[in-house]
Amino acid sequence: MTHPAQPKASHFINGEYIEDTAGTPIPVIYAATGEQIATVHAATPAIVEQALSTAKAAQKAWARMTGTERGRILRRAADIMRERNHDLSVLETYDTGKPLQETLVADATSGADALEYFGGLAASLTGEHIPLGEDWVYTKREALGLCVGIGAWNYPTQIACWKGAPALACGNAMVFKPSETTPLCALKVAEILIEAGAPAGVFNVVQGMGEVGGALVTDPRVDKVSLTGSVPTGKKVYAAAAEGMKHVTMELGGKSPLIIFDDADIDNAVGGAINGNFYSSGQVCSNGTRVFVQKGIKEKFLARLAERTGNAILGDPMDEATSFGPMVTENQMNIVLGYIQKGKEEGARLICGGKRADMDGYFIEPTVFADVTDDMTIAREEIFGPVMSVLDFDTEEEVVARANDTEFGLSAGVFTKDFTRAHRVIGNLEAGSCFINSYNDAPVEAPFGGVKASGVGRENSKEAIKHFSQVKSVYVRMGDVEAAF
Ligand code: NDP
Repeated sequence: MTHPAQPKASHFINGEYIEDTAGTPIPVIYAATGEQIATVHAATPAIVEQALSTAKAAQKAWARMTGTERGRILRRAADIMRERNHDLSVLETYDTGKPLQETLVADATSGADALEYFGGLAASLTGEHIPLGEDWVYTKREALGLCVGIGAWNYPTQIACWKGAPALACGNAMVFKPSETTPLCALKVAEILIEAGAPAGVFNVVQGMGEVGGALVTDPRVDKVSLTGSVPTGKKVYAAAAEGMKHVTMELGGKSPLIIFDDADIDNAVGGAINGNFYSSGQVCSNGTRVFVQKGIKEKFLARLAERTGNAILGDPMDEATSFGPMVTENQMNIVLGYIQKGKEEGARLICGGKRADMDGYFIEPTVFADVTDDMTIAREEIFGPVMSVLDFDTEEEVVARANDTEFGLSAGVFTKDFTRAHRVIGNLEAGSCFINSYNDAPVEAPFGGVKASGVGRENSKEAIKHFSQVKSVYVRMGDVEAAF
């Protein structure tokens, strides 16, 4: 790859790129062609140590700056990201395989939104004054200290910013480890923060597999771990963090319900189902992959869905006309193809797609199964690929019970013209991020995160501030101290 935005080395520590070729080489593969476009090296113990000690040393001075000063830097970084959106989007497409049509509007732009939003909040992080007669208590909202961010591979720029921006706004320092599958984009976030004026060491990036993540999570200097990943990894990381009594945010997987009632506008509901299953080729944690359709409109819904899904344009992700890209890796493609096979074997009715696309790269056709039942594997497990399961239902009570019958609880959506019912159904669904007559909108102003096995804590919005800061309370006595002896 020869691209102006290509990072210069594997790691970014203390304000500069650093290489250590003693680390295990990690090939970076462009999913649309299968070609190797770069190599990074996993962090050696020396690199991990350098990143942690640098961040630890930089944090105190960063926290002592005023919120206005920190916020200004984050907002400047947001401006730089927006100015370079095109180059950063091309890099994101190389890293993930997602089509440029998407990356131009969803990745560096949403990262910039997070930097701008939390930059704007930084100056308003205040405590309270609590009067107690002559005495009083005051509270201070303080940084946690040294935070570790660990990312999944579907939104490498966005995840780095969704974790880095609130962490830095609160006065923390961060060491971020991207997924080994998509190591490039977070390095650019680190580079841009320095350019915007962030002190060296407050945001560092190290590469590596799970063992590097593990070394970061267990280090006693680390105060907080924020992970975006699968439920099994989340359980391991949560347990390791608990050993050290560290704060956590866990943004994990889902198998979210999207419920479509008979009275819904069919085209809007089909649009919601497409956005909630096929954006980023289905590699989105909050996807509404269990689409419950009330029996009265089922066949009409399926016909319109098949027709519109047929309009997906698979092809060169760098061509802005392409609307559907490949799976991130060959391995992920094979996992998803395995689920499709299971769907066929377990008796689901294939409406469209159902196989690898006949072209280079790791493309799978957007796939819809109908007549899916609650016990089928494709209705129970997170697939993380373009596989939509359509299930039938009769009544509201029934669909709510079935929708909640899962270990996950990330998202949920409902399409209906009856607003009383919409709010009642959402009120009864066990999910953290919900949608009415829409699906998968994730503005930085809104809290994002799951319940049950889908996670702990919230990203974005003012909620994220609570997860990257803690309250100190100070009792102030004006008079004498009374003591028993
Ligand atoms: P993984 O759980 O496999 O990995 C997530 C990250 O954790 C990676 O950087 C991984 O490193 C690292 N890791 C793995 N093991 C450990 C360990 N023991 N200690 C510390 N770090 C570790 O997830 P994927 O990358 O495969 O991403 C897909 C998953 O992410 C899906 O389940 C999806 O639902 C979820 N996700 C959740 C989102 C949310 O906000 N709720 C958003 C996006 C995705 P490496 O992979 O390099 O080995």
